[in-house]
Order: sequence, then structure tokens, then C-alpha cells
Amino acid sequence: MDRRDFSKCGLMLGAGVLSGSQKGAAAAGGRSGRTGNYYEEPPKKLPVRQFDVVVAGAGTGGVVAALAAARQGAKTILIERKGYPGGTVTEGGTALHSFYNLWKAFPGVKKRQVVRGIPQQIIDRLLKVGACSGHAEMSKGYDYDSVCTAIDTEMYKLVTFEMLHEAGVYVCVNTLLAGAIVDGTRIKGVITESRSGREAIYAKSFVDCTAYGDLAAFAGASYNEPNDYSVCNSIGVGNVDLEKLHEFLESHDAVSQYCEGIRSGEEGKIVRIQGRSSRLPDGFRQGMSDIGMSMVTTTVHDNYMMFVKLNLKLLVSPTSRDEVARGELELRRRQAKAIGLFREYVPGCEKAFIARTSPMLNIRRGRQIICDYDISHEDVIEGRHFDDDVFAYGFHDSAPKLQVKGGGTYGIPYRALLPAGVENLFVAGMMITSDRRAHMSTRNTVSCMGQGQATGTAAALCSRKKCGSRDLKYADLRRTLKKDDVYFEG
Ligand SMILES: Cc1cc2nc3c(=O)[nH]c(=O)nc-3n(C[C@H](O)[C@H](O)[C@H](O)COP(=O)(O)OP(=O)(O)OC[C@H]3O[C@@H](n4cnc5c(N)ncnc54)[C@H](O)[C@@H]3O)c2cc1C
Repeated sequence: MDRRDFSKCGLMLGAGVLSGSQKGAAAAGGRSGRTGNYYEEPPKKLPVRQFDVVVAGAGTGGVVAALAAARQGAKTILIERKGYPGGTVTEGGTALHSFYNLWKAFPGVKKRQVVRGIPQQIIDRLLKVGACSGHAEMSKGYDYDSVCTAIDTEMYKLVTFEMLHEAGVYVCVNTLLAGAIVDGTRIKGVITESRSGREAIYAKSFVDCTAYGDLAAFAGASYNEPNDYSVCNSIGVGNVDLEKLHEFLESHDAVSQYCEGIRSGEEGKIVRIQGRSSRLPDGFRQGMSDIGMSMVTTTVHDNYMMFVKLNLKLLVSPTSRDEVARGELELRRRQAKAIGLFREYVPGCEKAFIARTSPMLNIRRGRQIICDYDISHEDVIEGRHFDDDVFAYGFHDSAPKLQVKGGGTYGIPYRALLPAGVENLFVAGMMITSDRRAHMSTRNTVSCMGQGQATGTAAALCSRKKCGSRDLKYADLRRTLKKDDVYFEG
């Protein structure tokens, strides 16, 4: 299905709910059936629910967006296709980059906590239940990241679920967002599918945090599908001795990143380690390359590597069901091969096993939604700030080659979160920023969380003031974000 068909499908779903003539057709048995290679679905009457704010996708950005909206007093619903909140932060990567500026790589630059607010509150809650390394300082590889914030992926799901519950968010897990009800440039509602049936959810403001930009696409927003990254299904590996892994890497002079923090309740333990593959034994290095495996891991538990990544480049965009199906099989083959490599080559990993996989492959980019402003590579590395900043961020995934000037921060402008041509929709997460070099910063977990707090807050304010996203007074948004501990400094 191409871009236009996809949006049309969403619009048609919407029209099915709204149109009086179609309701009549449904009652009369409807005009449906097969014509050639197409089947026309009969119109259907759906139950309607009314909210102030709809957040689509309970992942990295969506959890924070829903918390922010509900805490502003908005009646908020969060729609998530999986059975838990968390998203890619619990299934994709390594650690949460980066709550801090990259100070160590810049002599004389002070350590500064840049991302605060709700993202930091999640870390505080994780620390209370022994599910986070803390903001542990890197002692090797800090020109890449100064701090490693490693999390227990399973506890993250529970802790954020509890926080959403406490904030009064109506959390619909196991529920697919399947369409949008659109009136001109305004979204009136969304269509959901679950085992309780199809429903129409009406609201005043909408936030798309689906990573793929499903809601924006259903609403008719313009987008690109660059397919410019590998997809991945990372695994948790159990029954491993991290100290022996460290010795193994040291013996090959191959340790490129090293960090100690809280692990299984004890301070000063390895929580992040990376091996330089070029220095590893030939068979191991070749095996890693064949399966797209990266030799970096984090953990917060003894005998466990929280993330080992297996990457694969798809031939076409990850919105293609059939290409993704091919990828899912291939990645599971690669996971098994990865375990074989650890068992064969790494002392202390002889009885390693796969302890966790992601239920579906993870993407680094799906649709890139066209917004009022597109953050450029220069904006990021020059550390630019804007008149409508909604928070400051300071990390680049391509460090040490690319870093924010002088160890400072750049601003994420409000306009970068507004899909062009839709008046009451916000987007947050990996779906913004077209330039891949800039995206290597804006797509990071903690940036997605910051975007979540900004969009959730803005959506709630718009709903309260009964205005569109572009009519919201920036001063009101900034005051509210500052009150909620969001950091703006350059
Ligand atoms: C392999 C990998 C490694 C990475 N490593 C790091 C790292 O080490 N550090 C770092 O900071 N960043 C890393 N990243 C990047 C970062 O994790 C992601 O960019 C970020 O988590 C994306 O957040 P998001 O909110 O956009 O999407 P997600 O967290 O993916 O959330 C999207 C949510 O929407 C749900 N959803 C999607 N479609 C629908 C629908 N139609 N209906 C209902 N629900 C839906 C999904 O199930 C999901 O829960 C990595 C990414 C990958 C893939």
C-alpha cells in the first residue's frame, strides 16, 4: 500500500463512523462484497468514547506524553498494541543516552543534567526498586557518552504502567490504532481494534508516539520512508560472567567502553562494556560481522547481559509486512548464532542462553513525518536554540565524530513536533527529523522522552483552551514546562 492509499484507508474508516448514509447502509445490510481483487467492507456502527487527549503508542515518548497530559488535568487515553508500556527503550538499545551533556570530551566543560522532568522521575522510581544502574559515569569511551543509564527492561514496563495508573491515564494495552476520523485538517477521533471490538475514540488533541507515525499517516499528514537504518531484534543473554567477559576483552586489548555502576544492588560493578571487534579472534569477529552483532552491552543484574544487538538491513521500508516477516525469521536465526559465538569464544559464557527477545523487530526509523520545522545537522552540532524551544538536549549518537559544540546543548523547537497541515496533532519520537545525522541525536531515548513531555503538555493545554496546536501561546507552554522541571539552558 502506498502513502496515499494508507491515508485514504484511515480517512475511509473515519467516514464510516461519521456518515449518516453509511449508517443507513449498515442497517440495511450494506453495500459490500468482492469486486475482482477487492473486497468492500460493510459499514459498521461503533461505540464512541470521549476524551480530551489521545496518545497513540505507549513507548519511549508515549508514556511520558500521557503522563504529562494527565497531570495537566486532561482526560487522557493511551493506546498501545502490545500488552505493556515501554516500547523500544525496553527492547532495542543499550542504555538511555543521555541525561547529561557530553562534558568529559570537552576540557573545562562542567557536568550538567540536561534532561530532567518526567524522564528523571522514571529513573528515580526505577532506582527505588533496584532496576537502574543510576547515572553511572563512563570511565572508558566517554567521548561517546559521559554517563550510562542502564535499566531493567522488565521492571521499566511495570514501573511506567504503575505511574500511568497513578496519573489516571486510561491505558488501553493490546489495542491497535487502526484509523483516524478526519474532518478537513482536524482529527476528530481515532479507530481502535481490540478483542473488545472496534471503537471510535473522540478527543480534542492527539499525540502520535507510534514510532511508525501511524496516526499522522492515517490523518493524511505527508511523510517519507527513508529506510536508512538497519532493523534489529536485540536479546537478553543469561548465564554469563561479566567479569570474565571483561578479562577476555582486556586480554585482546579490545575494551572500548567501560562503566561501573549499581548491579544487583552493589555499587562499583560493570554495567556497560564494549569490545572493539577488530581486535577479537578471527572466527569470533567474522561470526559477529555475518550476523550484524555489536559487541556492546549494559546490565543491572549479575550473570545477565541486558542487550546484545543483532542487526539486519531490510530491502524496503519496515512498513512492508512481508519484508518484515522475512526479517523476523532471519533475526531469530541470528540470535541463535550469537549465542553459539558466545559459548564457543568467550570464557564464562559456555552455558549462555537467550533470556529475552523482543516480540517484534525494532526499527530505528519508520515514517518520517513532515513537520513545520525540520531540525538540521547544523542546528544540532552548532548547539542552536530557538524562540520556541520545548527542552534542551545534548547528545549525539555519532560521537566522538559529531558532537554538540563545546559540550553544550541544542533546543528542540515546538514547530518540529507539529505535522504540517494537521491542526490538532503532535508527533514525538523517532518519526521527526529528516537528516539522518541530526536524527542520530533526536531519535535517542531521552530526547524522545523530552519530546513526549512537551507534546503531552501542549496537547493538554490545547484541549483546555479549546485551540489548535498553532494557536497555543508559547509563553504558556514554556511556563508550564519550566514549572514541571524541564531544562532549557544552552
Ligand atoms: C536496536 C536499537 C538500538 C537502540 N539503541 C539506543 C541506545 O542505546 N540509546 C538510545 O538512547 N537510543 C537507542 N535507540 C533509539 C531509541 O531507542 C528509539 O529511537 C526510541 O526509543 C524511540 O522511541 P519512540 O517513542 O519513537 O518509539 P517506541 O518506543 O518504539 O514506541 C512506539 C510504541 O507505539 C506502539 N505502536 C506502534 N504502532 C501502533 C499502533 N498502530 N497502535 C498502537 N500502538 C502502536 C509500539 O508498540 C510502541 O510501544 C535504539 C533503537 C534501536 C531500534
